[in-house]
Amino acid sequence: TPLVAIVGRPNVGKSTLFNRLVGKKLALVDDKPGVTRDRREGEARLGDLEFRIIDTAGLEEATEESLLGRMRAQTEAAIGDADVILFVIDARVGILPADRPFAEMVRRSGKPVILIANKAEGNAGLAGAYDAFSLGLGDPVPFSAEHGEGLADLFEALMPFFPDPNAEPEEDEAESNKPLQVAIVGRPNAGKSTLINRMIGEDRLLVGPEAGITRDSISLDWNWRGREIKLFDTAGLRKRARVEDKLEKLSVADALRAVRFAEVVVILLDATIPFEKQDLSIVDLVETEGRALVIGVNKWDLVADQQGLLKELKEKATRLLPQVRGAPVVPLSGLAGTGIDPLMKAILQVYETWNRRISTAKMNQWLADALEANPPPAVSGRRIKIRYMTQIKARPPHFAIFGNQLDALPKSYSRYLVNKLRESFDLPGVPIRISLRMGN
Ligand code: GDP
Repeated sequence: TPLVAIVGRPNVGKSTLFNRLVGKKLALVDDKPGVTRDRREGEARLGDLEFRIIDTAGLEEATEESLLGRMRAQTEAAIGDADVILFVIDARVGILPADRPFAEMVRRSGKPVILIANKAEGNAGLAGAYDAFSLGLGDPVPFSAEHGEGLADLFEALMPFFPDPNAEPEEDEAESNKPLQVAIVGRPNAGKSTLINRMIGEDRLLVGPEAGITRDSISLDWNWRGREIKLFDTAGLRKRARVEDKLEKLSVADALRAVRFAEVVVILLDATIPFEKQDLSIVDLVETEGRALVIGVNKWDLVADQQGLLKELKEKATRLLPQVRGAPVVPLSGLAGTGIDPLMKAILQVYETWNRRISTAKMNQWLADALEANPPPAVSGRRIKIRYMTQIKARPPHFAIFGNQLDALPKSYSRYLVNKLRESFDLPGVPIRISLRMGN
């Protein structure tokens, strides 16, 4: 569960907010020595969001001399631990000099922050809320901890940091025993049937030049070193189609069915004629359907200069398939039965990548560096400001960027972020999605 920290100068209403969110449950007082001594933690709930919350308000009764130093240290620690920060100001009083050092700590941390203009019941303190823009922490959420107003807006603002409740259950699926769904797709005669026969080790599919072989089964269960695999039998589908279609085009509908079925798609290339147009359109499907990709290069037994070709194919893959950059390229021979273990290892590896989740804290440390290395450009005088980022989904990795004027963000900049993400977090062979969200 996400950890949320309430931060702000004394007397803005942090404790009241804490109590409001924690509800009747007694706040746990953490009595570890040192900085965390004055920290209160609790289990909070807002709508259907559940999270842990830290309050830095424990010192508000302390004597004046020691107060600020300890409070700062404590705030620093809370910010360090948190996934999301609620920065609280007093909307009636407006921004005071005392707010600024706390705001500065939050900004420096690069962590996602929601600015709360507290004590704004019944639209009181609107002026103070406007004042709050000057902190550079985004649009304030008008709120009244005392009266419980603004909870819906706070809910909206917090939502992105929680797993999507409508998403299919995806916790730990990478480790679960659910069979991994794999489709092997490729042009007719790339060698799909031969490879699948070799993998499952029986002649379950009929291979060869005979036309009109029909298959009823759609998927084949297989076990590779204890891992359950469901292989989607596109070969069978294609052979059925071949009867009517002498041109042996790969049917887009068949390919789409296979891709949709799969978690990992193996595009099987024929080493003697790699990266044909049909191959590229299959990869497009993999991208739009958001699947993980492995590039299998079959008929490797026919290749004379294996090293040279492998190098060339890797270069081509990078150039022709930027949307799934880094997808593993695995040479193999279905006929000779070589390269199947490396293929399976590559499949499991991109599957893991496809399921990857990056913590919001790590994400935002990364974002701060990425923005510093290459700040977003000003577009026709509009200052684009990216504030924070969070992963909203996995399978494939999907990120949301929050900020202002993002509609003006050039595509090239999104590409920069995607490429850098791929590199920094090691996400080869999977599509990476980015959504832009304006305001807070
Ligand atoms: P599919 O249409 O993709 O299912 O392709 P098939 O498995 O039916 O194979 C098409 C042809 O390529 C057959 O004649 C196979 O014997 C041949 N073939 C398949 N794999 C290999 C391979 O690894 N090496 C060689 N030399 N030939 C292969």
